[in-house]
Amino acid sequence: DSFDALGLAPSVLRGVRDAGYDSPTPVQAAALPVALDGVDVVGVAQTGTGKTAAFVLPILDYLVKDPMPGKKRAVRALVVTPTRELAIQVTEAVAGYGKHTGLRAATIYGGVGKGGQRTALRNGIDIVVATPGRLLDFLGEGVLDLSFVDVLVLDEADRMFDMGFVKDVRRIVAAVPKERQTMLFSATMPPPIQDLARSILYQPETIEV
Ligand code: AMP
Repeated sequence: DSFDALGLAPSVLRGVRDAGYDSPTPVQAAALPVALDGVDVVGVAQTGTGKTAAFVLPILDYLVKDPMPGKKRAVRALVVTPTRELAIQVTEAVAGYGKHTGLRAATIYGGVGKGGQRTALRNGIDIVVATPGRLLDFLGEGVLDLSFVDVLVLDEADRMFDMGFVKDVRRIVAAVPKERQTMLFSATMPPPIQDLARSILYQPETIEV
């Protein structure tokens, strides 16, 4: 099947196998080759299409193949989501597909105490999945260093816009390195999301399913 042909790192492919998938969904078939090449992606896709794996597998593959020198940990990938439920789901996907990689993920969201999330960040995390408000809190406190982020994902960008998070998102984007891979997923692409995409992605490939 075509997961084999993608050239995924063996540990990542094992995670996909464990999930029991036979072949990529249409959004995965279109997005994975592009994203695995390090190219920026705009993915126009609803929930239920398999969009999560379309950005999680490239993140895992990249981090496995290009680890930090000296086994150090730093936040190298950041996924921003509109809601805590989605953040938790994405982290579960990272943990599932990534269970053979040794990579660590943490979920950062508001409405709960900061202690546990702060401790997780201090213990060394490779991939952060976060809602905007709490992420900016931690950035302001200096608990979170985003200067090593190589891959940035905005998931459900249209919902983030609807929820009034665009300013927050722009502040987050300003806190990560300019040289990075960026992926933006959205069910719809109204003009404000097109503007956002134009200003934060570099020569993106657009995938619509
Ligand atoms: P998502 O759109 O990312 O929320 O994924 C929707 C559902 O599709 C999740 O339950 C995934 O586990 C499942 N899924 C993702 N990719 C595949 C695949 N290639 N084959 C079968 N199921 C998949």
